[in-house]
Amino acid sequence: MRILLAEDDPLLGDGIRAGLGLEGDTVDWVTDGVAADQALATDEFDLLVLDLGLPRRDGMEVLRGLRRRGDMTPVLILTARDKVADRVAGLDAGADDYLSKPFDLDELLARVRALTRRHTGRAQPVLEHGELRLDPATHQVSLGGEAVELAPREYALLRLLLEQRGKVLSRTRLVEALYGWDGELESNAIEVHVHHLRRKLGNELIRTVRGIGYGIDRPAKDAP
Ligand code: CA
Repeated sequence: MRILLAEDDPLLGDGIRAGLGLEGDTVDWVTDGVAADQALATDEFDLLVLDLGLPRRDGMEVLRGLRRRGDMTPVLILTARDKVADRVAGLDAGADDYLSKPFDLDELLARVRALTRRHTGRAQPVLEHGELRLDPATHQVSLGGEAVELAPREYALLRLLLEQRGKVLSRTRLVEALYGWDGELESNAIEVHVHHLRRKLGNELIRTVRGIGYGIDRPAKDAP
C-alpha cells in the first residue's frame, strides 16, 4: 500500500514511517499542509495519515479540500489529546478514523490495517485465494499450509494484487505503490518481483496482461 503521511513532528513521523515500512507499506512523508495538498493533487495514495496540527495549512483544511474534490482516499487523523471537538469535527469533515496523541504504534498499525480492509470491502482480515493465505497482521504467507518466505517487496506486491483481486494493475501503479517517491528503481523491478512470486507460488497465480500490467483473477465461484 502507498500511504501519505502528513506529520510535522520529526520523531513521531520517523517512527510512523518506520513502523508502516515494516508492514510492507510504502510511505511518502510531508511535514506541512501545503505539501500534503500538492502530493494529494498529483499522486494517488491508498491512505492518508493526517496530523491536524500542521504548519502552513491546517490538517482540517487539507481534509475538507480532499473531500470537496470528491477524493475518497481513506483518512486517519492524528489529534491532540483531550481535543474532543477536533475529533468530532474531523470525523464530520470526512475522516474515517482518528487516534489521539500520544498513541501506541501498534494501535496505529492495527487501525491502518482495519481501514484498508474496509476500504477494499473485506470483512475478513486474512486474504485467502485458493490454497494461498496472507495474514496482514503477522505478515505470514502460506501455500497449502506450508509457510512461504517472501522478500518485503514481494510481500507488498502480493498483498496489493490480492487486495485488488479481479483487477489489472498497471505497471505504473505498482511501481508507485511499491516505491513511492524513492525511485532508485530498475526499469524491470516489478517483472523481477513477479518472477520471484511465480517461482515461489506457482505460475498460474499472477496473470500478465501484455502492455498493461498484472492481476490475480477471482476464482470463478466468487465472481460477481
Ligand atoms: Ca503537529
